[in-house]
Amino acid sequence: MSVIYRKYRPQVFSDVVGQEHIKKILTEEIKRGRTAHAFLFTGPRGVGKTTLARILAKSLNCENRKEGDFEPCNKCLSCDSIDKGSDLNIIEVDAASHTGVQNVRENIIAVSRTAISSKKHKIFIIDEVHMLSTSAFNALLKTLEEPPPNVVFVLATTEIYKVPETIISRCESFDFKRIPISEVVKRLEKISKQEEVKIDKEVLDNIAYNSEGCLRDAESLLGQVLSLGEKEISKEQAEIVIPHSSLNLVFSLTDFIAGKDTKGAIELVNNSLTDGVDLSKLTEHLIELFRKILLLKINPELQGFTREFDDKSNEKIINFTKVFSGEQIFKIIEILNKRLLEIKSSKITQLPLEMAIVEICAGESKSQQAVKSSSQNENKPPLSVDKQDNKSQSDVKLQDIEFIWSRVIENARKHNNSLSSMLQTGKLRSFSNGQLTIAFKFEFHQKKMQDIKNRKIIEDIISDNIGTQVLLNPILDTTLEIKKDEASNGEILDSINEVFGEDVEK
Ligand SMILES: [Zn+2]
Repeated sequence: MSVIYRKYRPQVFSDVVGQEHIKKILTEEIKRGRTAHAFLFTGPRGVGKTTLARILAKSLNCENRKEGDFEPCNKCLSCDSIDKGSDLNIIEVDAASHTGVQNVRENIIAVSRTAISSKKHKIFIIDEVHMLSTSAFNALLKTLEEPPPNVVFVLATTEIYKVPETIISRCESFDFKRIPISEVVKRLEKISKQEEVKIDKEVLDNIAYNSEGCLRDAESLLGQVLSLGEKEISKEQAEIVIPHSSLNLVFSLTDFIAGKDTKGAIELVNNSLTDGVDLSKLTEHLIELFRKILLLKINPELQGFTREFDDKSNEKIINFTKVFSGEQIFKIIEILNKRLLEIKSSKITQLPLEMAIVEICAGESKSQQAVKSSSQNENKPPLSVDKQDNKSQSDVKLQDIEFIWSRVIENARKHNNSLSSMLQTGKLRSFSNGQLTIAFKFEFHQKKMQDIKNRKIIEDIISDNIGTQVLLNPILDTTLEIKKDEASNGEILDSINEVFGEDVEK
């Protein structure tokens, strides 16, 4: 589906998306009439290398271009024949299929030596130039060393490291970058507007994300969406022809992992597989997301090295940096990386990812068990592991405290039996900004828990077990139901009465 790509192929420099640094230098050279004899365009596929090479060729040979201008007119005979691919002065060679020296001699060297009578340039655009054989490179090198007049070479490659240094040193090199996601989306919006089709922003975001900065891929995917022939295209409709929103899947999966919801995560993986999602890709994207979260956590400036996301996704990512600790992210990436390699060879495609999920979620509880057992040891400071980790309060959730709650009650017993019993009657309500709210049915309990001395004991025990400072906020809730088996049994209340010497209703 390259129709869209061809139809909307930029015809002038100013239409080319991105690559501002390259356009600036090239157009300046054209304006001054001082272009190089050989250019080397390097960078990922589909980011505009051959597009810019063709515009450069058109501009150099344009019959209407005035001195000091740089844009081709796109109307003259020369421009027209280049557009049609029938111009004999523009020779496009795909080195991937012409690797041998003979081809270079016949197609390039011989042709470049033919006398050029007119003022026109002969322009060779050699795509995937790194594919040439060594002898072919040597033959080309001789031509580059003594370029015939009016001959311009544009060598394009995705793998610069395979191009001999001797060739590179004779070219003016331009390093093409991936197209920023916002630019890709803008471009897609422009095309769909011209095609008079309304497409959900989410669809365009998904296309841009999946194309990984390759405009050609993005336009090709858009072409598939447009081929649905609808005037308005929703996310659901788009998913008929383009990959399911891996962007959404990746975020949902991360949500499940954050919530340690093994069941939810495994269901998502299996449903995705049924929907035809490539699990290798999904895992890769998941790793990329966690890498981004990790680098953001280290320093927000590092995100320039990571994959781009749209604004809405960026917000979610920033939230994830608060949910996961650096250590957790490190572990998750390690596990996913290891399992990624197994996906392709696994007889049960989803198994490696399922194992990774189980491992990640189990790893969580394992570390919490470590916390538990370390605090059981009275002689050692409890939770030394997490203390070193210096967990921030934002890393701790209510469920983390619930998880260690029985330990807190047990530890409290060593200080004060009745305090421990009283704590059992309380209900954990919420944890935010370091404040743990516990509801008590009886005012008497709430008051006792507010007592500075008692509060301090409990706060210290919780802090020791969870690895971060926690403040207690005992509140009263007379509607609270206390389960028979845990708190309202006579024994506990009796012991409370015994200590505090007050009548507590049973
Ligand atoms: Zn022209």
